[in-house]
Amino acid sequence: MENVKRAGEQTEIVCPKCGEGHLIVRIGKAGSFVGCSKFPTCTFTSNFTRAEDGAIVLQAAEEPTLLDEKMSAMWQNRYAVLVGVLACLFHALGIQNASTFIGQLQNSHAHYAAEN
Ligand SMILES: [Zn+2]
Repeated sequence: MENVKRAGEQTEIVCPKCGEGHLIVRIGKAGSFVGCSKFPTCTFTSNFTRAEDGAIVLQAAEEPTLLDEKMSAMWQNRYAVLVGVLACLFHALGIQNASTFIGQLQNSHAHYAAEN
């Protein structure tokens, strides 16, 4: 309830993104956060914690790009593993040219789709 009462509170913190607006306490689905008073011109937002005296302390911004890089590296690894497994499977089945086989599969599927 405390956070709800404080919604709309304008802080003395100057927006670090645009340097013009001040940060305002807002309530979102995930809880309270601060956003720029220049919104929607400036879309800066940040999570925050409160110091003992109630002062707002901005939390370090998360780094989604870093997470994205991790995610894409993970998927690249998985794709590489998948391709490796398929290559082994094709080899075990005696199919030497896997890409040709995949092409034939796609062609036969296309024929099937066209006929039905
Ligand atoms: Zn701003």
